[in-house]
Amino acid sequence: MTSHETQPILSIRGLSKRYGDFEALSGIDLDVARGEFVALLGPSGCGKSTTLMAVAGFVEPDAGSIVLAGNDITALAPDKRHMGMVFQDYALFPHMSVLENVAFPLRMRKVSRREREEKALAALETVQLPRKSIYARPSELSGGQRQRVAVARALVFDPVMLLMDEPLAALDRRLRQHLQYELRHLQARIDTTVIYVTHDQEEALVLADRIVVMRNGQFEQVGKPRDIYDSPANAFVAGFLGESNSAPAHVVQRDSGAVRAVINGTEDPIEVPGDFAPAEGLFVVRPERLRVHAAGENSGASLRAQIIDIAFLGDRLRAELQLSDELAWTANIPIRDVMGTEHLLARGNEVRVSWAPADGRLLPD
Ligand code: ATP
Repeated sequence: MTSHETQPILSIRGLSKRYGDFEALSGIDLDVARGEFVALLGPSGCGKSTTLMAVAGFVEPDAGSIVLAGNDITALAPDKRHMGMVFQDYALFPHMSVLENVAFPLRMRKVSRREREEKALAALETVQLPRKSIYARPSELSGGQRQRVAVARALVFDPVMLLMDEPLAALDRRLRQHLQYELRHLQARIDTTVIYVTHDQEEALVLADRIVVMRNGQFEQVGKPRDIYDSPANAFVAGFLGESNSAPAHVVQRDSGAVRAVINGTEDPIEVPGDFAPAEGLFVVRPERLRVHAAGENSGASLRAQIIDIAFLGDRLRAELQLSDELAWTANIPIRDVMGTEHLLARGNEVRVSWAPADGRLLPD
């Protein structure tokens, strides 16, 4: 690989934005590789759209720089950046046909009529819109088809990257899931770079090569979906990406490579991997990592609990467990693991809940 190929297509450095007294972005840094799919994930108001709009050129940052393929574009007009955009409401022109909508960015670029039509048709083929729909108005299409048209319009001028702001948020769950996979396949096929804003963690997990978890105008963690899920940097990330059981805990013993901690309100010390410097933290463990045993059994990291509810969810049982007066956790037990322990898994039973020590984390609160 030459150094040119390893160079990120987009480099953001120290990007900040204030609205009056409110700091919407506080000096963020991000490199995006060519062909990468990056999801900006976080709760409402954390600065996802502000980041995307700054990359697009619609938000002028107060500080920092944006470099695209080696050129500083921080002050460049949006239409000079050649970025394709897709929004939640698609912003399709209602009075134009699908074909005219998709060809529109080319008209703005003074492309000849013939070439416009050729390219628009090719873009519609890329997103697999049925040929019979190309002369329809947007209002005559389904939500999913409109979304495809919006993507085709964003792709038609061969943009350097695609910027997408909650493009599936208005659709129902089933269609959203279907289009997530479609988008993923499309992106792999055309090998375009995507920055994608979402507050939906599942969407980020399905789509992204890398996820940026944001809060209060800052990046909490940047990494591959699996790494963030398995090793969240802090309690916020653990709670935002996936479900997690958490409990305040204090360290009672330190060894090299592990600490022992006691979850507040419980008795048995538990082993936690890694070295955790503070005296107190938040212990977290994922619901699917918990196992339920008979009360007498004591294996690995385990705690006493009472089952307060059991729900059947098709592929798993979901057990609500009371660990102390103030502490309730959830365990997800795959149906295939239930066999032989049915007698244990009933409301009111006293049990032990365990997990492999490597599956627990003590995190800064
Ligand atoms: P959402 O999903 O709700 O859009 P977000 O993470 O995309 O959330 P942003 O739209 O980037 O968040 O907004 C970040 C914060 O900046 C919000 O609190 C928002 O109210 C504020 N904000 C955004 N644009 C403006 C503006 N033009 N003027 C004043 N405040 C703004």
